[in-house]
Amino acid sequence: MKLILLGAPGAGKGTVAKLLTKLDGSVQISTGDILRGAVRAKTDLGKEAEGYMNRGDLVPDSLIMGIMEHRLQEDDCKGGFLLDGFPRTIPQAEELTQLLTKLGIKLDMVANIDVPRDVIFDRLCTRRTCENPDCQAIYNTKSNPTKVEGICDACGSPAVQRADETEEAIGHRLDTYNEKTAPLASFYEKQGLLETIVGTSSDIVVNAIKKKLGI
Ligand code: AMP
Repeated sequence: MKLILLGAPGAGKGTVAKLLTKLDGSVQISTGDILRGAVRAKTDLGKEAEGYMNRGDLVPDSLIMGIMEHRLQEDDCKGGFLLDGFPRTIPQAEELTQLLTKLGIKLDMVANIDVPRDVIFDRLCTRRTCENPDCQAIYNTKSNPTKVEGICDACGSPAVQRADETEEAIGHRLDTYNEKTAPLASFYEKQGLLETIVGTSSDIVVNAIKKKLGI
């Protein structure tokens, strides 16, 4: 399947993407994960992106398009892909449309995951992520805590609050989403690709997507 997962930070795009990859071998492409990897590896891209990310601002479109133009042409995308966190602005969406046309790729659907802001805010403030890049297990201090506080159950590395998951950064990320990314819903509605799914449970969202795709 070739999907865009649209939705605010914390709407569950990453969880839904991981569940969908198990269905047909499509790959999850998360620009956030790619950027965090670059920050850890201290590459030029990472050094440029880090300040924007820690403040909860979007990284410039030109950097993102450079990453995605390359990524979408890698071999593993031939079997399908789930775009998680991209596109995030109208210019990115317009450039993506051109890129997909150039590559002869047709999207199946843009799934817009709609979750109330208060649910998202609470989810992100209480989220903890394993800082081991090979693990990156996700916990929640309320609904899914680690057995030992601050330590990943799976690999024993520290499970920490991401720099962009403080209350201040989260508020800013959600405002940025409303201003810059929410307009993509009508952009894709006009193209007849949009399916809005209201749901706080990833299983409900996955089932709705399967139904719409007829799988
Ligand atoms: P995410 O994990 O998707 O919430 O992304 C974390 C951060 O990476 C965002 O707050 C942005 O700073 C940056 N980022 C990820 N994807 C994009 C994108 N498509 N455009 C601009 N910035 C992005």
